[in-house]
Amino acid sequence: MSENISSRSRLALTASWTAAARSQESAREDRLFDDPWASALAGADGAEWLEQSSPEGVASVVLRTRFFDDYLLRIAREDGVRQVVIVAAGLDTRAFRLDWPAGMQVFELDQAAVLERKQTILDEAGAESTCERRVIATDLVGEWEAALNAAGIASDQPAIWLLEGCLSCLSPEDLRALLVRVMKASFPGSYLAFDVINSATLTSLLTRPLVEMQARAGAPWSGTMDDPKSLLKRHGWRAELTQIGSPGADHGRWPYPVPADDAEAPHLWLVTARRPYRVGEGAHDQAQPSQPGPGASPSFLPRRQRE
Ligand code: SAM
Repeated sequence: MSENISSRSRLALTASWTAAARSQESAREDRLFDDPWASALAGADGAEWLEQSSPEGVASVVLRTRFFDDYLLRIAREDGVRQVVIVAAGLDTRAFRLDWPAGMQVFELDQAAVLERKQTILDEAGAESTCERRVIATDLVGEWEAALNAAGIASDQPAIWLLEGCLSCLSPEDLRALLVRVMKASFPGSYLAFDVINSATLTSLLTRPLVEMQARAGAPWSGTMDDPKSLLKRHGWRAELTQIGSPGADHGRWPYPVPADDAEAPHLWLVTARRPYRVGEGAHDQAQPSQPGPGASPSFLPRRQRE
């Protein structure tokens, strides 16, 4: 039990790290997004992490943040979905910083301690949400659906689910269990987005700095998926994979080769998926950004050779 509690507070720390990466990005002139609250939310823990973090550690957070910003807004605007569920929201401020369409509801789930600290800082800063925001303090390794229903989600309407930065820190069993629960809680027509690593990422020389950084910081990666598309397909979802550093998730910021679609290679995947309204539904299943898939990048070539 006490081990569980200390592992939860270590995971809570990871939310300060992502806030710190967003704070650094927000200070750039060529920023990919602006999170004016990120610095206060990151606090001393986040600043300390930033000092010891590697450039690729920060870049991967920044690129996935922008990728999911674009994805959420595009689906909301183009498909009219008016519910977003941010699972393991941590210190995410999308409910405040994104220009949501009218009528948007954003539900945030995380540990009570994380959500309470976030609320205090946002209140002190006078932050105003750009949507109807509801927070749900819960343990995600357990039953959270009733609390989400009680918070007012329309379970008979599609939603966009986002699980960002959380799956890799879960055990493989907890990762799968959480994803399956999310899929079961989703009404047909719902969308799902998450980032995940494959198992080769844990052992590859290419990704060793990232893996070691996570371990040093106290939140080692362990949750992996080698074939996200197949798992989602088994549950009736259609998925697309984008890799960090490939078009739509690069913005000239990723200095490393983008691995080919090869199980032996490390992959930092951004997964987007849709549950069709009915089996066999076609063209409208996955409203993806107009971009080539991961396989479109020549593999294992340094950027200068790719360009
Ligand atoms: N999605 C946010 C982001 O990208 O900034 C936060 C990511 S942070 C790396 C991981 C988050 O998962 C933390 O806020 C942590 O509290 C949350 N988390 C991990 N395990 C959890 C659990 N069992 N129950 C509730 N929250 C959990």
